[in-house]
Amino acid sequence: MQKIDKEELQKRLDQITDLFASLVTHADHQSTWRCPYKNRYDQCTAHFGCRNQLKAGGKGELPLCAGDDKLNYRSAWNTQ
Ligand code: SF4
Repeated sequence: MQKIDKEELQKRLDQITDLFASLVTHADHQSTWRCPYKNRYDQCTAHFGCRNQLKAGGKGELPLCAGDDKLNYRSAWNTQ
């Protein structure tokens, strides 16, 4: 088995830390305006009603999100 060089290991850990830090920064920023239930295809993954949901074309497909990402999306949720 090959020995692990501690300096090389630390360098790689630092690279991974930098990578995840930038992902977290982006997610933090995006969460201030984009609903967390909206996926990358603009579909709604919420398991509750929301007035921004539009019926999808196909059976079993997720509803589409009609939210414009400019409003406070929480006021549209049916939370009863
Ligand atoms: S705003 Fe409403 S419809 Fe859009 S993803 Fe969020 S919960 Fe779903």
